[in-house]
Parts: sequence; structure tokens; C-alpha cells
Amino acid sequence: MLLDTHGRTATDLRVSLTDRCNLRCTYCMPEEGLSWLAKPELLTDDEIVRLVGVAVGQLGVTEVRFTGGEPLLRPGLVSVVERCAALRPRPRLSLTTNGIGLERTAGALRAAGLDRVNVSLDTLSSQTFERITRRRRHGDVLRGLAAARDAGLTPVKVNAVLLPGVNDSEAPELLAWALAEGYELRFIEQMPLDAQHGWQRGRMVTAEEILAALERRFTLTPEEGRGSAPAERWLVDGGPGRVGVIASVTRPFCRACDRTRLTADGQVRDCLFAREESDLRGPLRAGADDAELAELWRRAMWGKKAGSGLDEPTFEQPARPMSAIGG
Ligand code: SAM
Ligand code: SF4
Repeated sequence: MLLDTHGRTATDLRVSLTDRCNLRCTYCMPEEGLSWLAKPELLTDDEIVRLVGVAVGQLGVTEVRFTGGEPLLRPGLVSVVERCAALRPRPRLSLTTNGIGLERTAGALRAAGLDRVNVSLDTLSSQTFERITRRRRHGDVLRGLAAARDAGLTPVKVNAVLLPGVNDSEAPELLAWALAEGYELRFIEQMPLDAQHGWQRGRMVTAEEILAALERRFTLTPEEGRGSAPAERWLVDGGPGRVGVIASVTRPFCRACDRTRLTADGQVRDCLFAREESDLRGPLRAGADDAELAELWRRAMWGKKAGSGLDEPTFEQPARPMSAIGG
């Protein structure tokens, strides 16, 4: 098991498949100038499947989520999913994606064994989408979402980040749209994980503000039993529709955290905000066996800190941005 000194057990693995992306969301990446990992540094498909196998077979991981960067840019994605679905005990498999290209691949991903997807979409306006992502791809995302739902990659969750003066007035419309389309909407508070280090606490939309905006139009009833899920959830107008808020900044959920992370270049991270990483790629390529890799992973997680440290005066943003860590 992946235990830490604060009594938590990590059973949920986030695997970043690439640090590259076809969008440039302002809260994540600069317009240009971000350098990518070189190909030899990236884990190969075989290496990813091997490490996921160690996590599932020896370390008690039950959930695997592929992310990035943009995971749909990874050419071997469908086969990686298929091979991970063949592992025993079979992990639940999901994907966090910006949705571009999902229209083409949703069916193949479902057939390969993917259980569900989260698609990121911050706005219903194509102009606002272009302002946030610096690309004209709004239609691709909407079609990707519909394809995921039609392929049965359900429940399809939509992740939205609100930015002051850009899309923060859209919260109620986004929720009405998601309910009508059968997607589960979750708002994510903006975190200090952008490559440009531009995040400011006073310039983020808080969970409290989001909920107040939603409550002007909907009746929200808190749902019990959050467990280790980062999202707090509410039934909308008595249900069955729901909405979630992931308030990593103003209402952190570190005490119940069950995450472990593997970057695209084979580093274990115990937290999104960690400043240290533990290398598995070097030992893997030097011939370590599964038991040795499992032991290195256990050691990497044992020292996980109690919290993200965001509220401490000494907080420093991690050197790598969200797109390279795997969000
Ligand atoms: N490219 C994929 C996508 O956008 O879904 C997967 C990777 S992306 C880093 C994962 C999630 O992190 C997305 O929902 C995105 O909106 C969110 N994200 C990126 N930067 C963020 C930030 N600074 N604060 C909060 N969420 C962020
Ligand atoms: Fe790309 Fe996702 Fe970052 Fe947007 S949030 S730039 S889609 S990795």
C-alpha cells in the first residue's frame, strides 16, 4: 500500500501522458516559450503500462486517470488504455482532456476499456473560449463532449475554471447547459500552478462566490458522503442533477487526499503542490524489478506533507507547471 505518516492511503493514480497541449489556457500556459520534454525523457507506452501495473498489482491503486498536458495528443493512448484495462485487479480508468479530437476517438477509447471522461470547458461563448485558450476550437470541444456521452463514457464531467472579468458571470448558464446536456459540472478554483506564475489570491473566483451566484438561480442541497473526492457536491433543484466545486485554495481537502501522481517523464509526486519528485524512470531503465520499483514508490509517498502549504507564508509554487505535473 502507499501509506504516509499522516495515516492516508493513496489509491488514486494520476498519470501524465505528455506535457504538450494544443490549447494555451491563460491560467495554465503562456502564449509561447514553454519548452517541452524531449522524447527520450518521456516514458514509453511499455514503461507506462509497466508502472501502472506495479501500482495496481503491488500498491493497492484502484483508480487510474490519464491526463497531461493534453492526453489525446499521445499517439499510443488507445493501446495504453487497453493494456491497463487488462491488468488485474482491473483498475477503473478515466481521462481528463480538453476534448479536442474526442469526437474521433471516444468510441475506440470506450472499446479499449476507458470508463469515463472529464472534459474541460470554461465557457459557452466561442469568443470567450478563444480569449481563455488562445485557440479557435470551441466547436471541437462541444462535439467531443457529445461523442463521449454517446459512446457511454459516463458520467461525463465538465471541469470549469472561472476567471474574474472573463467568464465569472457564466456560472448559472454553464450549470443550466450541463444539466440539459446530461453532463456533471464541477467548478475548479484557480490554483497557483500556471507556468507564468501569474496567479494572485485576490484575483481568483472563490467557491463561496461561485455558490452565491448559482444560488441566485438554483436551489442547492449539499450531498453527504464526499469521502476522499476533491469535489464538494450539491443536488440542484432537488436532483437528480448535481454540481460540484473543487475548492483546493479556500477549502482544501488534503486530510482525505488519496492521490499519487506519475509525470510523463517518470517522476512520482505525492501532491500537485509538492516541490520534490522521486525518480522511477532511472531505476526502471537500469533494470529494477517490480518489487524494487514498488518499494521506491512507497518511499516516495511516505513523506507526503499534511497539506498543500498554500496558506503558509513560506509557500512557493512548484517549479513545474500543471501541464507538466499532470492536472
Ligand atoms: N489538457 C487537459 C484538460 O485541460 O482537461 C488535461 C490537463 S489540465 C492541466 C487538467 C485540468 O486542470 C483542467 O480541467 C484545467 O482546467 C485545470 N487547470 C489547469 N491549470 C489550472 C489552474 N491554474 N488552476 C486550476 N485548474 C487548472
Ligand atoms: Fe492545455 Fe489543459 Fe493546460 Fe488548457 S488546461 S493549456 S487544455 S493542459
